[in-house]
Amino acid sequence: MDLGLKDKVVLVCAASQGLGKAVAQGFVTEGAKVAICARSNDTLQATRAELIAAGGNDVLAFETDLRKPADLQRLIEGIQSQWGAIDVLVNNAGGPPPGSHLEISDEQWQHYFELTVRSAARLTELVLPDMKEAGWGRIINISSFSVKQPMANMMLSNSLRLSVLGWAKTLANEVAANGILVNTVCPGWTQTNRVSSLLDAKAAAVNSSAENIKQAISTDIPLGRMAEPEEIANAVLFYASSMASYITGTALAVDGGQAQVF
Ligand code: NAD
Repeated sequence: MDLGLKDKVVLVCAASQGLGKAVAQGFVTEGAKVAICARSNDTLQATRAELIAAGGNDVLAFETDLRKPADLQRLIEGIQSQWGAIDVLVNNAGGPPPGSHLEISDEQWQHYFELTVRSAARLTELVLPDMKEAGWGRIINISSFSVKQPMANMMLSNSLRLSVLGWAKTLANEVAANGILVNTVCPGWTQTNRVSSLLDAKAAAVNSSAENIKQAISTDIPLGRMAEPEEIANAVLFYASSMASYITGTALAVDGGQAQVF
């Protein structure tokens, strides 16, 4: 099936590993011109090489701290100077750490507000002028199923991700007349390195194995298993594709049925 993504210029943020990398891989396979960013240049360059080897297209890679406005400016200008206007922006970043209300410091609130909320808004501000001029654009946020069903001990994530959702819905209405669609993918438990480390830590804390912890988590998921990163990437590709031309302002749970709300 042709998703209409060939030669589209796509920026996937935080794409050196995990969900971002799987999303970048999906766009490469569809023949898009893909730019990626992350903080660690070594991992970034290794991922860039992998994506080029897998897809044949060139891939741009920019060392970027998504919390720093100057880095974001450099990132967007770097892509524009080589490939022109960005057609698809995928907002993704490292997730906030666990913690209950009283455990979170002012500094953490500020740090993860900048990373989770402001980075998406700032990047969008930078790409909107070109999208408006083209009369076409896609802004897709990677969030979490916790926006539908808050997770215990995840105060920062539960709060800040809902802020992104409110921003995205409002923005969707503001730019709909310009042909720009704004949507959010809400992954459930997905087998990335981040989750593997989390399982190892939980297992060590209760003297069990990572596999046992994974099984226990999977019993709460109606489909009975965690997702593969490609299953999350598929939802992002759908939102970017010509198939999704009448969908904006939505949040799609890709969580194996875990959230008990629509
Ligand atoms: P991951 O830890 O594997 O990857 C996160 C990426 O973010 C890395 O490439 C890292 O370099 C980058 N990053 C972190 N801070 C950054 C910064 N300041 N500037 C630039 N890049 C930065 O995580 P993942 O599992 O791929 O998850 C991606 C997002 O999806 C996270 O927000 C996560 O919380 C969310 N999510 C993941 C799952 C899951 O089960 N994997 C489920 C729901 C939501």
